[in-house]
Amino acid sequence: MSDRVPRSGEVALVTGAGSGIGRATAIRLARRASAVVLLDLSEEGLAATASEIERDGGTALCARTDVSDESQVRAAIQRATAQLGPLRIAAACAGIEVLGSALEVNIADWHKALAVNLTGVFHTARHAIASMLEVGSGAFVALSSDAGIQGAQGFAAYCASKHGVIGLVRCLALDHGAQGIRSNVVCPGFVETPMATRIFDGMSDDEIASWAKTVPIGRFAQPDEVAASIAYLTSDEASYVNGQVHTLDGGATAGYYTPA
Ligand code: NAD
Repeated sequence: MSDRVPRSGEVALVTGAGSGIGRATAIRLARRASAVVLLDLSEEGLAATASEIERDGGTALCARTDVSDESQVRAAIQRATAQLGPLRIAAACAGIEVLGSALEVNIADWHKALAVNLTGVFHTARHAIASMLEVGSGAFVALSSDAGIQGAQGFAAYCASKHGVIGLVRCLALDHGAQGIRSNVVCPGFVETPMATRIFDGMSDDEIASWAKTVPIGRFAQPDEVAASIAYLTSDEASYVNGQVHTLDGGATAGYYTPA
């Protein structure tokens, strides 16, 4: 059963909306937004998310967009806002995993990690916040990671990009808070999405299960648990939350922990 309570004029944008956390976020936001603009590289992923939203009575507008290309992000937001009105909410969820130490990662993959995970968030923030300023209120959330607040062995490029996202979002909070725009960042630990499945590729079920036990809560997160945090941070319930790093990792970064 749907718990939709759509608010007129509350237009939301979600990047990476074709899969995982972005899809769960778009579906959740569609229950209260008048429309959700879905951006992703994958046409197939976008269509699947849009049909779930529409099945639930929501409104979705899809735009195949590469977030690492500013002209594509600008054009997608301009087209969507011309049709739906200014954005009030934006969640920058698009991201890619890049594995390897600083010596192993090839230079093209290093640049790609930064282009999508960091510059992609910058492009999204730049054009989404410009739209929010037309009404003088809004909320922006970006996805970093627990690899944005601590090192991650074998993830040099990913980790560097996710640390960068936190610095960028803190600046957005300082620069635009007085203009009515709140900006925050979410740092999940492992979340069971297609990205996590790719990272686990080659590991046995037992190895994955023992990795999950290293999380104090005893399991990895589900995408909708991250979407719930994003929904909160972009709601009026979080009206005084700005520039914060919201860690959502089952306690993984709380301290030293030895599973029983
Ligand atoms: P996912 O691979 O399931 O989904 C990512 C989506 O981003 C895909 O639909 C993909 O097509 C899209 N995308 C990739 N490059 C893009 C580009 N250049 N332009 C537009 N769209 C692009 O991954 P996920 O697990 O849902 O990850 C979402 C975000 O959460 C990412 O930023 C990721 O780094 C972060 N995160 C994930 C985990 C995890 O364990 N899954 C943990 C911490 C942080």
